[in-house]
Amino acid sequence: VFDTIGIDVGGTKILAGRVRPDGLIVARLQVRTERASGRGILTQIVRLVRELAAGDDDLHGVGVGLPGTIDQRRGVVVQAANLPMAEAPAREVLGRETGLHVVIENDANCAAVAEHRHGAAAGYRHSVMLTLGTGVGGGVVIDDRPFRGATGAGAELGHIVIDRNGPPCPGSCNGHGHLEAYCSGTAVTLAVEAHVAANPGGSVARSAHGDPADGHLALECAANGDPEAIALLVDAGNALGQGLVTLAHAFEPEVFVIGGGFGEAAQSWILEPARRVLRAEAMDPMSRIPVVPSQLGGDAGMIGAAELPRLG
Ligand SMILES: [Zn+2]
Repeated sequence: VFDTIGIDVGGTKILAGRVRPDGLIVARLQVRTERASGRGILTQIVRLVRELAAGDDDLHGVGVGLPGTIDQRRGVVVQAANLPMAEAPAREVLGRETGLHVVIENDANCAAVAEHRHGAAAGYRHSVMLTLGTGVGGGVVIDDRPFRGATGAGAELGHIVIDRNGPPCPGSCNGHGHLEAYCSGTAVTLAVEAHVAANPGGSVARSAHGDPADGHLALECAANGDPEAIALLVDAGNALGQGLVTLAHAFEPEVFVIGGGFGEAAQSWILEPARRVLRAEAMDPMSRIPVVPSQLGGDAGMIGAAELPRLG
């Protein structure tokens, strides 16, 4: 039983960990992402791997989670939302420079694998995870293996259509009314801004005290019992539920896991509305699929990345 290294590359920081097969993190490092160039980010990853490997020959490999679309055939990042890594030949460069077996993967797929192996979906064979953050990411695990589609771009669950007449997708896509436009942190910030503009004398506007009217404000007001803020979050939860109805019918997982920074912070207000919509609108037995919060928090991407070399 060998350790592996998991790397989670984010827009602001890179998390790196040496992880045991049981998911235990035995060493961790964190650096600020040098966003100037994709080559620079790969160099940062190589440095982190060397430090965590420290001459140990027993390592089983390196998994790298990236916030973008991956082409698994070529081992390249097709495009990354907030990083200059388009067409970066990450797998080849990292494999050559570390001398280790390297697997690259979309970051939400990594989180889904982590929750499936060691978190909220442990013990199930089929699970679907949504990560609600700046955008909405997703991962599907079928028969204990991540589903990646034909080239590795699957599954972008934040871009399933909720309303064909809906607003433009806030993410890097040309669609309208996608799930990401309703229940990402960005979407809720837009909803709070619109609400405050339309209700300048309302409770949320008065609570802002000149601070930005954003998703954080909605969470803070909701925690104080503000019904306006709670209604905005419940709205996001209802949209999440609509998304789950589609995913339930497509995949019939045994469990849905809801995570991501915004998803975790808002779970008290969004999970129950999402469950209500799923129960009311999905066919049996899909209507009874449990909807649970993620368990691994900010470490999910790193732990899932570390699982990848073990999957073969
Ligand atoms: Zn979209």
